[in-house]
Amino acid sequence: MIIESAEIFLFELPLVKTYRTSFAEISQKRSILAKLSTSNLSGYGEGSTLPFPFYVPDYADTSFLVLKDFIIPQIVGKDINNPTQLCQTFEHIKGYSFAKTAVETAFWDLYSQELNTPIWQLLGGQKKQVEIGAAIGIIKDSNQLLETVSLKVAKGCPRVKLKIEPGWDIEPIKKVREKFPDLPLLADANSAYTLKDIDLFKTLDQFNLMMIEQPLAWDDIIDHAELQQHIKTPICLDESILSVEDARKAIKIGACQIINIKPGRVGGLTEAKKIHDLCKSNNIGVWCGGMLECSVGRFFNLSIATLDGYIYPADMSASNDYFADDIVSYKYNAQGGIAEVPDFLSDFEVDEDKLRHYTVASHQFDSKS
Ligand code: MG
Repeated sequence: MIIESAEIFLFELPLVKTYRTSFAEISQKRSILAKLSTSNLSGYGEGSTLPFPFYVPDYADTSFLVLKDFIIPQIVGKDINNPTQLCQTFEHIKGYSFAKTAVETAFWDLYSQELNTPIWQLLGGQKKQVEIGAAIGIIKDSNQLLETVSLKVAKGCPRVKLKIEPGWDIEPIKKVREKFPDLPLLADANSAYTLKDIDLFKTLDQFNLMMIEQPLAWDDIIDHAELQQHIKTPICLDESILSVEDARKAIKIGACQIINIKPGRVGGLTEAKKIHDLCKSNNIGVWCGGMLECSVGRFFNLSIATLDGYIYPADMSASNDYFADDIVSYKYNAQGGIAEVPDFLSDFEVDEDKLRHYTVASHQFDSKS
């Protein structure tokens, strides 16, 4: 397939309400989108990064620049026949996994249209439905927190994830556990603790959590391996795993028992599949987290979550749960803790008028100019 033209967008969607984690509050979702076109097809992909460098170093504006200056110029005008070949064009670029994901998933959209085969099938997926859990940001009012969890449980949510931070960790977990003794529950610390907090994690052991997600530094695996030796709750790594090589090393030293594979964080579906396959052969369970993707990013996350190693519910609440608006005509939805996996991104139908309405910067590339 010859990529004849491309366009990239830096856009900002309004959220229904502010979402709070241990590292920041988010009230607008700033994200990037890539559009690749051949002579007769167009594909879209989202790199759902954040508006600041508090999760990993790259963020929306730097991702846009890397796409503009380095990634897209190497693709436009080239004949690229499969996603592996596409990934080779940017493998020398260090980091910027969200920028890579925008273009890599746009290529998967093109590729699946060309082959007339759904991405989930091309990836080797085994199911047409994905279990969806709830991710609840930090809510410091206990009654409001319990009410929010109750609503999620009443809607059929199969598991709940609570964001925690120093000073707001044992109390919310204890309160939710007392009210819901059997609810599959996990805590996500987003790198907010150190090994000095081992006693706190030992205390959390009594609440029978499914896992504790990324308790220590975003770029660490050594301390996580030590922490895992002191606690029975399985450690799940998120921020620390940016590639299949990171996963190999973390598994080798016992830094985790579970990995949250977000395609955006690892540079796309190709790398996510490699991590999935490695985890499966090492009996490491995986699941698909979210980066507040709009419906475009959600589509690709759903597609990879069909692989049989994805054994835990995904963080993929419906678009309306987070966004006041979206850039598609038919928004992603999830009912009763289950989401149907669409065959093609066109099932959601990207609405270019809406995309341009929410765009704050864009750039066009044409092989003929
Ligand atoms: Mg996380």
